[in-house]
Amino acid sequence: MCMRARSLTTMSNKLAVVALGSLLWLSAGVAHSGSALAEEVNLYSSRQPFLMKPLLSAFTAETGVKVNMVYLKKGMLERLKTEGRNSPADLILAADIGNLHNHDAAGLLQPVASTVLAHNIPAQYRHPKGHWFGLTVRARVLYASKTRVKAGEISRYEDLAAPGLKGRVCIRSGKHVYNISLLASIIVADGVDGATNWAKGVKANLARKPQGNDRAQVKAVYQGECDVAVGNTYYMGKMATNEKDPVQKKWAQSVNIIFPNQADRGAHVNISGAAVTKSAKNKANAVRLIEYLSGDAAQKIYAERNFEYPVKSGVALHPLVASWGTFKADGAYLSKIAQERTRASKLMDQVLFNN
Ligand code: FE
Repeated sequence: MCMRARSLTTMSNKLAVVALGSLLWLSAGVAHSGSALAEEVNLYSSRQPFLMKPLLSAFTAETGVKVNMVYLKKGMLERLKTEGRNSPADLILAADIGNLHNHDAAGLLQPVASTVLAHNIPAQYRHPKGHWFGLTVRARVLYASKTRVKAGEISRYEDLAAPGLKGRVCIRSGKHVYNISLLASIIVADGVDGATNWAKGVKANLARKPQGNDRAQVKAVYQGECDVAVGNTYYMGKMATNEKDPVQKKWAQSVNIIFPNQADRGAHVNISGAAVTKSAKNKANAVRLIEYLSGDAAQKIYAERNFEYPVKSGVALHPLVASWGTFKADGAYLSKIAQERTRASKLMDQVLFNN
């Protein structure tokens, strides 16, 4: 499968080409011109090429539908807004319910009805009217120092706000999508007052101002700056197996994963997912691609390459992910949590979380 040769055949005046080293060329193409020769579909993805390339190649091999992918690390929402109905994008792939919800709130998505998707994806992880669909699941967990956090000392998100943890907590920016979704889930569980007190309490317990990414928090635990950090599960896999930057293995070894709230509502989980754009010219192929990504073969690739949990039941976990043990996930629908994100974001400002 040669992505480069295929993409070169789709060049047009509206072409956007992203070169990623010698890995592959990705292009946004000409499906809207009406001159497309082959079946194709145009994808905007904030998920990385290393992850998507094998998935898209497998899809093309099975269906014959060519995928023109534009990798957008940032700025997808602005780009789709600017392009409007002329956007070449048929579908998007993005991580976190926040990003999917923001596209939906901007009116950029359209409903999809698919019995395949309804079967493969639990209702909790998709929009009730098919505006977006979860494809992988990650839990937002606590990374606790193996030496400085006693067994049973911390077992709930709510514990992060308890007085006993003063000066012992690390977390990235309260305004990051991951933390806004987490706070939104706490609004759903504990109400606005409960969530406000939680955010205030966590801020009061911080060892340092919110900074860095999820991995940087685990590094800070390793270095003794704090005793417990908040992060997504797949980073544990990425750190524990990191050959490029082997010191990250030490960060991973210094902590235990605690799945929070196992005796009550369960751990907050989030998704990466897909959605069909309102501007889609190749809607049928876009749906086909999402269906493929929710199926057994693709779910296995996701699980193997990115240490995430498959959204479809019955698909094997990566052995390392399995080694973290089973856990209970918060049963709140992500569509409901998404509704509280705006409030959660304002609440982070109100309590001056990052100051
Ligand atoms: Fe991430």
